[in-house]
Amino acid sequence: QSQELSQAQIDYHAALQALVEDGTRMVCTGRMHTDRICRFESLCYSTEAEEFIYFHSNSSVMLPNLGSRRFQPALLDLSSVEDHNTQYFNFVELPAAALKFMPKPVFVPDVALVANRFNPDNLMHVFHDDLLPIYYTMQQFSDLDLEARLFFMEGWSEGVHFDLYKLLSNKQPLLKEQLKTLGRLLCFTKSYVGLSKITTWYQYGFVQPQGPKANILVSGNEIRQFTKFMMQKLNVSMEESSSEEYIVVFSRTINRLILNEAELILALAQEFQMKTITVSLEEHSFSDIVRLISNASMLVSMHGAQLVMSLFLPRGATVVELFPYAINPEHYTPYKTLATLPGMDLQYIAWQNTDREDTVTYPDRPWDQGGIAHLDKAEQERIIKNTEVPRHLCCRNPEWLFRAYQDTKVNIPSLIHVIRQTVKSKPGPKKQKWSGSLYPGKVRDAKCQASVQGTSEAKLAVSWQIPWNLKYLKVREVKYEVWIQEQGENTYMPYILSHQNHTFSENIKPFTIYLVWIRCIFNKNLLGPFADVLLCST
Ligand code: UDP
Repeated sequence: QSQELSQAQIDYHAALQALVEDGTRMVCTGRMHTDRICRFESLCYSTEAEEFIYFHSNSSVMLPNLGSRRFQPALLDLSSVEDHNTQYFNFVELPAAALKFMPKPVFVPDVALVANRFNPDNLMHVFHDDLLPIYYTMQQFSDLDLEARLFFMEGWSEGVHFDLYKLLSNKQPLLKEQLKTLGRLLCFTKSYVGLSKITTWYQYGFVQPQGPKANILVSGNEIRQFTKFMMQKLNVSMEESSSEEYIVVFSRTINRLILNEAELILALAQEFQMKTITVSLEEHSFSDIVRLISNASMLVSMHGAQLVMSLFLPRGATVVELFPYAINPEHYTPYKTLATLPGMDLQYIAWQNTDREDTVTYPDRPWDQGGIAHLDKAEQERIIKNTEVPRHLCCRNPEWLFRAYQDTKVNIPSLIHVIRQTVKSKPGPKKQKWSGSLYPGKVRDAKCQASVQGTSEAKLAVSWQIPWNLKYLKVREVKYEVWIQEQGENTYMPYILSHQNHTFSENIKPFTIYLVWIRCIFNKNLLGPFADVLLCST
């Protein structure tokens, strides 16, 4: 991967002239700073001022043109974490004529993706906040191909997982610090700024306690397309699961330990009659971990960032997440949410240590490793007595950190019992059935015919045709939902029907107008759209 910017591709004088005469051009998608990604031509960056620069000239474009709303609070989020005030992007404006007095620009010939990594030392953050969003931002814009170059502006050094970021493009990603070595004024020929948030599933609790995002837009399919790409780049083949089945225990070696790991491994092997192996980030290469996890039947691990690796598990596998004492599994669900995304096809099981005897605490460690010695005595006592960490905001709650960094002696019978409630026989990859769910289209040619019997009774015969896509599908169960609403009323009578026609006589009055709503339902829960409403007069 080349680190230098090849100036050979650039006709310097033509580029400079274009910059001076045309200025910067920006067109963005998104209505708010939280969903905006901008495409720029001739966006510049001063490595001395550490500011992006927009040059006004004859052909400048700035869309959206927000005026001072550009600072309320920012043009866009540079990371995929929503509206975090350390991650905002903006530029300063200058007339292109000012270039005469500025350092000579160095042009970046590659198409650039400019973004912030959020927390590149934590594997969950690496995948959830950076790798998946970068991958799918690149999928969104066709000129962000494998020849594009990533620019990370958050100001961190490479970090322990930098090799993973390098897989996303053929060019070496550049860090903010390195830009200084390239020149005083950098000008990106073509660049995209910002990251798509469409694949993120979790919010970390900056404004409300952590939990799944309110409107998750990603399914297992997209996650697995991404992991397929990563595995190809890592040279890990997608093996057939014909070989021996096994369980992986992903262990932590520095903190939040499983104290009886050997006993746990023996017990799992015995209970499920499967080979059981341990891996850790400290003792295995990343490719080895991916290779082992991608063929495992079950992944068992303490709560923690290493569990994001369950995105490499094969369909049908089981994730078992272990929670230390006083930590309610329902309150910390990044890995549960991942495992239960539609189409991930993983089984998720949480186990919590509920026995004080089985926990080892570290009150005297530094605060960021869960120490509480710096708190006043009453607060320390309250924390030690409490049986559950109350819900809290990110990221420095001492009670949470104290409990999160406990070591645990896993109560084996209790764990096996919890796993057995879900995994009845052998765990492990099911036959790869295609479980993508398809929704019905609208029903077609809906018609109604009314008949009146005397002054108080009437009937409504309604009929319709199957949705157009049904004739190409094998669907286990096709049902129709019909709502009959008297015009002007708020309520309606709902019916679930198996056939394409029905005569309604209950509660049907003569000389009345009814609105009839019809939709098709596949397999009980795949609800199609309602067809245009049918007006029926009795
Ligand atoms: N980590 C690890 N082994 C350990 C402790 C941490 O591999 O014994 C990794 C962990 O997977 C994560 C990073 O170090 O990628 C930071 O861990 P931390 O405990 O701060 O975060 P958490 O796992 O709670 O998200």
